[in-house]
Amino acid sequence: MHISLRDTGNCLLRAQKIVITAHINPDGDAIGSSLGLMHALQYLGKDVSILIDDDIPVTFSILPGYELIEKPVKPVSCDLLVVLDTGLERLGQVRELVESKSILNIDHHISNDNAAEFLYLDAERAATAEIICQLFKEMGWGFSLQAATALYTGIATDCGFFRYSNTTPSTMCLAAELLAAGVKPNVISEALERKSYAHVQSMATAMQTIELLDNGRVAGVFLNQELTASMESTEGFIDVVRTINGVDVAVLLKCIEEKLCRVSMRSRYTDVSKIAVSLGGGGHIRAAGCTLRMPFLTAKQTLLSAVSRAIGENR
Ligand code: 5GP
Ligand code: MN
Repeated sequence: MHISLRDTGNCLLRAQKIVITAHINPDGDAIGSSLGLMHALQYLGKDVSILIDDDIPVTFSILPGYELIEKPVKPVSCDLLVVLDTGLERLGQVRELVESKSILNIDHHISNDNAAEFLYLDAERAATAEIICQLFKEMGWGFSLQAATALYTGIATDCGFFRYSNTTPSTMCLAAELLAAGVKPNVISEALERKSYAHVQSMATAMQTIELLDNGRVAGVFLNQELTASMESTEGFIDVVRTINGVDVAVLLKCIEEKLCRVSMRSRYTDVSKIAVSLGGGGHIRAAGCTLRMPFLTAKQTLLSAVSRAIGENR
């Protein structure tokens, strides 16, 4: 059931023991919106924990409360499970291990599965963290420096530090309020930009695999299982591919296990969220992804024909 922002706030106020979760493979928005909300609820005297069924990238260790994020390992019960930055899919073990009286979902993905008992969805917002900022204002909660730092990180990472098309006047006005609360934007961007030597070398290796297809309108990096295993992360690779002149759709395919491949897509014109949904995933118009349970070469073919079809329809 879709609810208003005020009802979202009231739903949080009614609960005492609250578990916050977000999608696996968590990004800056998943982590930032979770920590931002946690700080506000803790200030209100709630018993709050964050359970995310994945490793939390160490780049985000600059965020206050980072060390409090846990993996679900044993059954827990709570009054309210808050699911951020995804629908009820992609939660890993959380669905099995967290027993909750009700579920509140706050998200900005157009592909949200609409499965939660209470849903606040606004696909016009650049980040879930932007919605959390609006919630603070709706409820009259002040931005502590801790919450503001987390929320700024969520917003900035999801809109490419205010460069992507999802950046709106609201995005920038809310970010300005977070800066007024004391956030240091340079500290956050410098911490998130820093890469290991090995990561930069992996990026060079990955870029050797670039292929241009569909008359240069599609570009892809294709990492087989061996290459994927040799890399600690592929963070930021797709952002290089998307900058190639003339490219509409950029894809990154990586093979994690023999029959398990991960896909990331970015676009200038084509709706990649539709392509991702057709392949069992989801996301936004300009940034989406999916998991393909098939061998690397089959996944590559499946992905490229879905992209070509979408580009053809778009022409
Ligand atoms: P990324 O390429 O950065 O992993 O993901 C881009 C966007 O697509 C993010 O907003 C992310 O939440 C969404 N996304 C990526 N993979 C999946 C997926 O498998 N399922 C769904 N529903 N969304 C995804
Ligand atoms: Mn997000």
